[in-house]
Amino acid sequence: MTYEYYRQLIIEKLSGSFAASPSTASKEQVYKATCLVLRDILIAQKQRNNMEIEKKGLKRVYYLCMEFLVGRSLKNNLFNLGLTDDFDKALASIGIDLDELYDYEADPGLGNGGLGRLAACFMDSLATLGYPAMGFSIRYDYGLFRQKIVENMQVELPDLWLPSGEVWMLPRSDKNFKVLLGGYVETHMENGKLRFEQKGAEVVEAMPYDVMISGADGKGVSVLRLWKASAYRSFDMQKFSRGDYFTAMRADSEAELISKVLYPSDDHYEGKQLRLSQQYFLVSASLQSIIKDHIKWYGDLKLLPQKAAIHINDTHPALAIPELMRLLMDEHGFGWDDAWDITVNTIAYTNHTVLSEALEKWDIELVQSRLPRIYMIISEIDRRFTAQMNACGKGGILPSSAILWDRQVRMANLSVIGSHSINGVSELHSNIIKNNVFKDLYSVFPDRFTNVTNGIAHRRWLCQANPELAAFINELIGDGYKLDASELDKLEKFTSDKTALKRLGEIKLDNKKAFAQFIKKETGEEIDPYSRFDVQIKRLHEYKRQLMNVLKIISYYLELKDDPNKSFTPQTFIFGAKAAGGYAHAKRVIMLINCLAKETARDAAIRDKLRVLFVENYNVTLAERLIPASEVSEQISLAGKEASGTSNMKLMMNGAITLGTVDGANVEILERVGRENMFAFGLTASEAQRVWNEVDASALY
Ligand SMILES: *Cc1c(COP(=O)(O)O)cnc(C)c1O
Repeated sequence: MTYEYYRQLIIEKLSGSFAASPSTASKEQVYKATCLVLRDILIAQKQRNNMEIEKKGLKRVYYLCMEFLVGRSLKNNLFNLGLTDDFDKALASIGIDLDELYDYEADPGLGNGGLGRLAACFMDSLATLGYPAMGFSIRYDYGLFRQKIVENMQVELPDLWLPSGEVWMLPRSDKNFKVLLGGYVETHMENGKLRFEQKGAEVVEAMPYDVMISGADGKGVSVLRLWKASAYRSFDMQKFSRGDYFTAMRADSEAELISKVLYPSDDHYEGKQLRLSQQYFLVSASLQSIIKDHIKWYGDLKLLPQKAAIHINDTHPALAIPELMRLLMDEHGFGWDDAWDITVNTIAYTNHTVLSEALEKWDIELVQSRLPRIYMIISEIDRRFTAQMNACGKGGILPSSAILWDRQVRMANLSVIGSHSINGVSELHSNIIKNNVFKDLYSVFPDRFTNVTNGIAHRRWLCQANPELAAFINELIGDGYKLDASELDKLEKFTSDKTALKRLGEIKLDNKKAFAQFIKKETGEEIDPYSRFDVQIKRLHEYKRQLMNVLKIISYYLELKDDPNKSFTPQTFIFGAKAAGGYAHAKRVIMLINCLAKETARDAAIRDKLRVLFVENYNVTLAERLIPASEVSEQISLAGKEASGTSNMKLMMNGAITLGTVDGANVEILERVGRENMFAFGLTASEAQRVWNEVDASALY
């Protein structure tokens, strides 16, 4: 295909969707028309793939996650489809600069941080490797808040991603489902079988919006299905015609609340009713969709474990376990034992954290009132598991393994008991969950536990984010690494090649200059591209220890104040971090960083040597700009706390040197690159644990 072909498609879209021509269209309309052309190409490719998948009867992967932090799509899709040059020319021929169009797309913040970004990278990877995969999440009207710094403090503003993000979505009004919340359960006998029916419930309609996610070369396509909530049968016509408009409308707005906004807490659980409703809404709609498709293709639900892998990313979608049981028993006539076999053999669970404040525990009263039938099933799972433990003579159920405990439902234990495969996200973390968090359950189900160390889509984080470096790597070792990252090993030949190293240095400097220019344009601030860029970008959290980094910088500052002529490598410390709105300590650290940033900018005696920069509204797009320009990667969490980390991988792949603790995936990075290529410091996880054990707990308070 030539660029003229795509030019024609864009012109047709402009006309068909906006009644516009290249000369009358706004840039925003050109942006949307371009996206729609790409969306059509991906949908056509997906349809071709579907025929293949159905013919071969391939097993499908379903990835359930409350968050998908996909980042912008236009550039990514063009890159993956190999169409960047053609579209560049096609748009240039109608007087539009492609690079300018990229900025019309808001970064869809449908996630908090690493967990949501992992889900997005998996979609890319599954598409590239040709697995038939569908991700499920919620079509939040508002994603993670937009952060603004006002008088050094974080202010949260609504994230308006839909106006520019909606173009990627294909509404599937033929594939909607009903989700029931509240009410009570009525039981009765029917043909000698006990039947359960949820009565008096609020009925929420789940409407799917599909986003196509391209893999490398555009051959594979994953689908991200986002559910939007609304009241079933929009409003009560009787009430409306009686003149009771407000009651009639209220049901609508209550249901719509479910897909209104993403909870902004990362690694911290929120025991709110709305959050529970969101989780159940996601799980119920997704499972109904999976089951309906499975029956259409294979007829027999006994085949579900053979044909479908349903993955729950952290415990947020753990209600998938009782919900699948409910659908199999109440809607499809299975008895408990068969339903349980199917459920356990279909569902797999990834644990993302060992922080106790992040482990989800729902109050029994809340689950019972909001999800009465689901609660019955959870207590039966708990009862049967307890009986099984008591019967096996090992001394019965241990409190640590129970699902129902202390008037709460513990989602992590439910996830382990209801899944056939359980993984942590780095070697160290997987060992910690086996030996600490799930110690007793591990002794019951040793074969279920495994490790899957996190990874990143290097096509986005290297090829696309750092085109100059990618082009140079192509020159050195060819482009096979785009599909197989292990080919990057071939670069080892050049470790002492002076010309290659010089070129790498030049590329880094170019990227630093580009970042400095971007900052100047956005904020008016000037940073020195010849200073060393030392970067810590991640959610603000005490365990990630941004404060420790700040204290180090303050000590440098004081040294320079004492002796302004001290020999000192000029450094720019760059932070990017959002804090959950209710996390007061984290917000104070943001304030401290911003005060320090002002102070270092103001003080003429030190500003050429030491600068601090806080970049507002850290998100995927900003990460893509900053990571190629970074030289030191701060990965300094308290050992044993960071499950994996992924910015450690992004930064290292772009030539930043890691300054890190022996935590999460840093451990495996250290093993691969060797001590001479990483500054590792601090206690190991087991040393840190020993210190905790030795501390007299009472002395802490
Ligand atoms: C990769 C990424 C993260 C995860 O960073 P960690 O340092 O691993 O916690 C968070 N937010 C964004 C926007 C990312 O791209």
